[in-house]
Amino acid sequence: CGIVGYLGPRPAVEVVLAGLRRLEYRGYDSAGVAVVSEGSLRLAKKAGKIANLDAELAGAPMPSDGVGIGHTRWATHGAPNDVNAHPHLSYDGRVAVVHNGIIENFAALRAELTGSGVRLASQTDTEVVAHLLARALEDAAPGSGPADLADAMRLVCRRLDGAFTLVAVDAQDPELVVGARRNSPLVVGVGQGESFLASDVAAFIDHTRDAVELGQDQVVELRPSGVRVTTFDGDEAEVRPFHVDWDLSA
Ligand code: GLU
Repeated sequence: CGIVGYLGPRPAVEVVLAGLRRLEYRGYDSAGVAVVSEGSLRLAKKAGKIANLDAELAGAPMPSDGVGIGHTRWATHGAPNDVNAHPHLSYDGRVAVVHNGIIENFAALRAELTGSGVRLASQTDTEVVAHLLARALEDAAPGSGPADLADAMRLVCRRLDGAFTLVAVDAQDPELVVGARRNSPLVVGVGQGESFLASDVAAFIDHTRDAVELGQDQVVELRPSGVRVTTFDGDEAEVRPFHVDWDLSA
């Protein structure tokens, strides 16, 4: 339902949670965050209000450096409980993914994964994406296959049917946040030395009003060096920058 991603010098969990609160008006049944800090992935997710997630984080604070992603869920596949809340982790704990929309062919993808020994933890359509990304990264060999999570995302998106906004992080790549979209919105916020991903500009408008709207079937990479947008096939995409000049009445 609501998606936020952050790369920059501020505490990622705080930026992501503040962004999720800005998206609360959309309605949701669960919320979660993940951060990559010093090569490891930390995750917290809870059914119910963001306050439940706050309580969880108060008991087990997350590192204040690193990149972060967050989600408020409106369940379509699987009950609204802690396990089905996003982010979803890959079998090897390397990749975390949040998703808006519906992966129409998830049953076939799940059958393929279980057939090769992957055990799924949730009832969501989303979880297959985390495993497929990890599998793609695992299959990468020097000189062939995906070089990083952005390559893996392009590969995996070409296999997905349906409507999706996806945002993912890789525990082994603490300076990268990747997003993708088809038939579901994703906006990039471009700040000074920091960048944002969100399903709605409201999530980052407190930090920057310079935005780029992602086109259909595009992947975006946030890195400290800047933002890059490609098609699912890896061709550089023309970006459409705009300035958010309206006021948000909080
Ligand atoms: N289909 C996904 C789920 O049920 C995402 C729902 C959403 O857009 O929040 O978990």
